[in-house]
Amino acid sequence: MSNHQLEIPAKKPGWFCVTCGAEEVFHDAQVRWCRDTQDWEVVAVLDDHWCEACANAGKEGETVFGELEDQQEVPV
Ligand SMILES: [Zn+2]
Repeated sequence: MSNHQLEIPAKKPGWFCVTCGAEEVFHDAQVRWCRDTQDWEVVAVLDDHWCEACANAGKEGETVFGELEDQQEVPV
């Protein structure tokens, strides 16, 4: 007996920009070097965050955490 119903993966929430709809949201953070993994590890995520796409365009995007709709309406 098999179930032919397709499983639709649940949308994962994340940071995105309500100004332009991009998911290129950067966050200030403190990192420190980890000798074991030979990589930087995040110690703390700081308050400052921004949309890199808007920053590249010389704008200030408003970034929020939530579910990004497929048909994101971009406010003018
Ligand atoms: Zn943006």
